[in-house]
Amino acid sequence: MYHYPGLPLFMPAAEYDHRVTADRTGVVVVGAGIAGVACANELARAGIPVEVRERARVTGGRMASKRFDGRPADLGAAYLTVDDPDFAQVVAEWQAAGLVREWTDTLVAYGPDGRRTVPGPCRWAAPRGLRSLVEQLARDLTVAHNRLVMTVEPGPRVDGRTAEAVVLAMPGPQAALLLDPALAAATRAVAGQRWSSALAGVLRFPARRWPDFAGAFVNGHPVLGLVCDDGDRRGDRAPVLVAHTTPEFAAGHLLQPTAAAPVIEEAVRDLLGLPEPAELTHVHRWTYAKPVAGGDGTYHLDDDGIGLAGDAFGRPRVQSAWRSGRDLGRALAARLGGR
Ligand SMILES: Cc1cc2nc3c(=O)[nH]c(=O)nc-3n(C[C@H](O)[C@H](O)[C@H](O)COP(=O)(O)OP(=O)(O)OC[C@H]3O[C@@H](n4cnc5c(N)ncnc54)[C@H](O)[C@@H]3O)c2cc1C
Repeated sequence: MYHYPGLPLFMPAAEYDHRVTADRTGVVVVGAGIAGVACANELARAGIPVEVRERARVTGGRMASKRFDGRPADLGAAYLTVDDPDFAQVVAEWQAAGLVREWTDTLVAYGPDGRRTVPGPCRWAAPRGLRSLVEQLARDLTVAHNRLVMTVEPGPRVDGRTAEAVVLAMPGPQAALLLDPALAAATRAVAGQRWSSALAGVLRFPARRWPDFAGAFVNGHPVLGLVCDDGDRRGDRAPVLVAHTTPEFAAGHLLQPTAAAPVIEEAVRDLLGLPEPAELTHVHRWTYAKPVAGGDGTYHLDDDGIGLAGDAFGRPRVQSAWRSGRDLGRALAARLGGR
């Protein structure tokens, strides 16, 4: 069992608070995506001092929404699916707060043989954008935005300051940039992850001139992987489509993603037979969009006091990221003797 320097094991939370001083901080969670926020919530609930640091100016990570003329469009995760009873409770709370809606259980698939209907699980969507869900989960936490963390060293030390433990809640290759190789167990764990890229193209048209389809998987296409009707999923019927490209197409456009906009637009118009050009296009690059090979278990926590959480510890889903952060937060709280 690891013993944090200078702290007895299983210390009562009240006593623990007194040990957090100017040169020593509580647990630092790096990354305010859903995994980091779920982890920090468990720690805070157990009475463990916790700081969340996020390099972006907003919370949410890959549950990203961007406003175009005041209307949000989802740039990252397209929707939520739920089969974990604990996550279902979180979704029920979001639903009670009016933040999520049951969108559809039927998508379509385009392929070499034409178009077919694909029934599946309920897909949940967020009228105010998926980011609003993470913001709601983080409502009782203090999240320091615009706070790029540069180094995590043995101690553990974050940007030169000692912490009780450090959680990296982000894709492994992003965590690898911070980790001192002397933190061998965490370095090994992130090195074992493999990630694929994607581009997300937002296309706003003058009018809705496509047949109702909610969302479409596109199989065997050189550019497109998924196209969603953002007006349908958000419920405002705005003439906005969001297309996700294949990893292969994205890999060839990571240096200049905006240059891919005309190709994505043409592919979508061709797929859906749209007569008019888009009046607005925007391309977002996800260098690390989805894990293709991840870790064992639902999180990593080692004797150096480094935790790793995120969707690499499960299927590439919002639910997996939430569960990973929740489980790591509980494990860390138990180790640090939270109430
Ligand atoms: C294009 C795309 C489509 C997807 N579609 C779906 C879908 O339909 N359904 C589904 O369930 N899931 C989908 N996903 C996956 C889903 O978005 C993720 O599983 C989930 O959002 C991951 O959350 P996370 O907290 O693990 O990581 P992230 O959301 O990536 O959070 C990591 C955070 O760490 C921050 N960070 C990184 N480095 C630093 C640093 N040095 N200092 C400070 N902060 C840092 C980042 O800014 C980010 O906010 C999709 C993802 C993408 C990209």
